[in-house]
Amino acid sequence: MARPRIVIVGAGFAGFAVARKLAKLSHGSAEIVLVNPTDYFLYLPLLPEVATGLLEPRRVTVSLAEALPGVRVVLGEAEGFDLAGRTVRYVDPEGGSGKIGYHRLVIAVGSVNKLLPVPGVAQFAHGFRNISEALYLRDHITRQIEMAVEAPDDAERQARCTFVVVGAGYTGTEVAAQGVRYTEDLVRARPELRDRPRWLLVDTADRVLPSLDRRLADAADAVLRERGVEIRTATSVQEASAAGVRLSTGEHVPTRSLIWCVGVRPDPLVDRLGLPTREGRLVVDEFLAVPGYPDVYAIGDAAAVPDLTMPGQITGMTAQHAVRHGHTAALNIAASYGRGRRRAYRHHDLGFVVDLGGLDAAANPLGVAVKGFPAKVVTRGYHLLSMPGNRVRVAGDWLLDSLVGRHGVQLGLVRGTAVPLESESPRT
Ligand SMILES: Cc1cc2nc3c(=O)[nH]c(=O)nc-3n(C[C@H](O)[C@H](O)[C@H](O)COP(=O)(O)OP(=O)(O)OC[C@H]3O[C@@H](n4cnc5c(N)ncnc54)[C@H](O)[C@@H]3O)c2cc1C
Repeated sequence: MARPRIVIVGAGFAGFAVARKLAKLSHGSAEIVLVNPTDYFLYLPLLPEVATGLLEPRRVTVSLAEALPGVRVVLGEAEGFDLAGRTVRYVDPEGGSGKIGYHRLVIAVGSVNKLLPVPGVAQFAHGFRNISEALYLRDHITRQIEMAVEAPDDAERQARCTFVVVGAGYTGTEVAAQGVRYTEDLVRARPELRDRPRWLLVDTADRVLPSLDRRLADAADAVLRERGVEIRTATSVQEASAAGVRLSTGEHVPTRSLIWCVGVRPDPLVDRLGLPTREGRLVVDEFLAVPGYPDVYAIGDAAAVPDLTMPGQITGMTAQHAVRHGHTAALNIAASYGRGRRRAYRHHDLGFVVDLGGLDAAANPLGVAVKGFPAKVVTRGYHLLSMPGNRVRVAGDWLLDSLVGRHGVQLGLVRGTAVPLESESPRT
């Protein structure tokens, strides 16, 4: 038989990890093909720092060609699978279509913004899932402060200086905590603007970071309040319009900025497979294989992986799980060719880090809660260790930020119409 071909669809945390591990395990005895719409791996946890002007966008990317020697990268977006015929159909970035056959397939297409059926949200809210959206938000936030200076009346000036973040998970909490610092820097450079930026963080839960350790939530809550962020728990958005948002409390908040961080849902491609799903994620067994298709694996946010440490539950949508799914899938694929033995996926949570900007963070490495500067050291160290490349440039930007501050200008590269919230694409 010719070299077996292993096709991995999606080069996020899970896809990148499985490709890297397989390249090491196979020593060239298998052809490893990675299909992804971009030529980079995106380190999502640092995206809030791109949107708030701290990191340049390329910093949070890692070149697939440089980081994955021996892996063939096919630029394309899979649009369908023929599981019986063992082929993947894809569309390349210039609209051409292609087909690739496989002996083993790994589906690692991740997730997209979650929409809720709230009037006006699809039109007026902006999500936070890829470089384009982060760049758009950075420009948009900057522009609001710049245009507030010349606003013809108080009402418009105040609306432009008001930012509403919906969803107080780790993304929304980081965006609000870091966003308020960014806008304060912008205002400081414009002394004629007397308004202090107003940031609201809205969530239906009864606390920020509802899915994380209470101690992390309390630490983040204290920092947010100290910075003046208005935390609206047990509250939802009922309607969005060009003039502002109406909250479930009846309050109308005039704003031009509705930042949507309510979470993610699995990539719609999973649904189109027509296979069993749980919470929208593709059902797999504890070996990460799709039942009935032993040559097909699914991992990361796209897969409903049984959590053997919490029977009956599935693993969370986190980078930590996605990377470890990738390692296990690689070992099980190698085992399917007689190298080593296959193993069930089992992983105990190692803790979480939340960067709140400035010298503040909250973290619970190995269950030990830390906050303030020690948490900041843990958080930044964790990110530098977890990034598969570009570490020196990231550390360089952090150092520059502490020495000379942020560079608050718009680049104007992404228009609002290019990043609609209802877009299914997490791609660029
Ligand atoms: C802003 C933000 C911050 C986060 N912060 C943290 C954090 O601090 N800690 C943490 O643990 N988790 C965090 N997460 C969650 C974490 O990033 C995800 O759980 C993780 O990215 C899941 O990995 P994945 O490989 O399944 O998906 P992704 O990393 O999303 O990768 C999916 C890949 O598949 C590609 N793809 C999608 N569709 C197709 C297709 N049709 N064909 C080919 N390729 C396709 C995408 O372009 C992408 O490259 C954060 C998420 C976001 C959005």
